[in-house]
Amino acid sequence: MKKADCAGPIEFNLIYMQHTFKKGLSLTGLLKRLGLASFTWMASVCVSWAQSSLSDPCDSLVPALVGGAIPTAQSDTAVLRWLGNANYEIAYKGKVYLLDTYYDRKARSRSLGFTVPEVKKADLIMVGHAHFDHIADIGPVSVQTGARVVGSAITIETAKALGMPPSAAVEVQGGDQLELGELRLDVALARHSTIQNGLIEAYANLYKIEVRADTPEEAQKTRLVMSRGSNDPRIIDQGTLAYGLTFRNGFKLVIFGSAGPITPGAEQMAQKMGPVDVAIVSYQPHAVSERQVMETMPLVQLFKPKLLLPAHHDASFGTWIDLGLEPLFEKVREVSPSTRFLAPLYRSPICIATSGDRRGQVIQYTN
Ligand SMILES: [Zn+2]
Repeated sequence: MKKADCAGPIEFNLIYMQHTFKKGLSLTGLLKRLGLASFTWMASVCVSWAQSSLSDPCDSLVPALVGGAIPTAQSDTAVLRWLGNANYEIAYKGKVYLLDTYYDRKARSRSLGFTVPEVKKADLIMVGHAHFDHIADIGPVSVQTGARVVGSAITIETAKALGMPPSAAVEVQGGDQLELGELRLDVALARHSTIQNGLIEAYANLYKIEVRADTPEEAQKTRLVMSRGSNDPRIIDQGTLAYGLTFRNGFKLVIFGSAGPITPGAEQMAQKMGPVDVAIVSYQPHAVSERQVMETMPLVQLFKPKLLLPAHHDASFGTWIDLGLEPLFEKVREVSPSTRFLAPLYRSPICIATSGDRRGQVIQYTN
């Protein structure tokens, strides 16, 4: 394993310092952070060397966040994995970027194949919004990885309450742009999806008819998981962010963890970024595909991705159901024929070229 494989998050610390400096961090704070930066870097190098894996990241079901192989800084392959709900990891150029941290899920959820205490590697975490099914495990995950956590004011407030160290916080708002080493991160104020009256009750009734009720232990577990988040109503139009990632070689990716209506912020981001290589877009919560396709497709059409990866389409036991992706993909084939798509399985590596003629194409997918 080359040293570059385990480059630590020092670059992130330095850039983050610039960011916080702009926001008025004191000299004392800066010195403290410098100390933390070198410590974090040393720790990261040691841990990465110890975890060194010779396996091919494109042929492994072990996510990078639990120590799986990460493409080297020299590689132009990005490895994406869907980790349930709107959780994705992007392992690229020696670093691990996470979208959301909801791994310890409601009772009776299908297993993701790893547990929260096993999560140890992330450089940057982008949280879409502060509902429990996006943020629940941010406390332990931010502590165990030492990653910076990007989010709206409501998200950061919630993350701190869930145990995230305040020093990890990178509070952003729509229109912000951060330079993070290899990555330029654009932030847009998005809008959370909303549901019509009666839908939640209809889903609950469906579960009641189809399966047994929770045992008291299961009900307790679900209550606990659901308490790890915020129900602040401002999340809908003030706390939900979309992220646009542009890497140094031009590889571009956008992330919409909730499929609400297009906002001015999303339009501005689309104008700034142009057509993207990859769009990760939520496909939930409407049970009838005709309705959900109407919600997700405008975002796909706005960013014209070469590759569409769906998110959030799996069941949240007792509330949402697993949605079939074919109606969405058939609509994409009809109205955006140059967009490819893929139905991911938890932990399966989706290897994408980030340069050359094949940029944005899946070059390997192992299920
Ligand atoms: Zn939500």
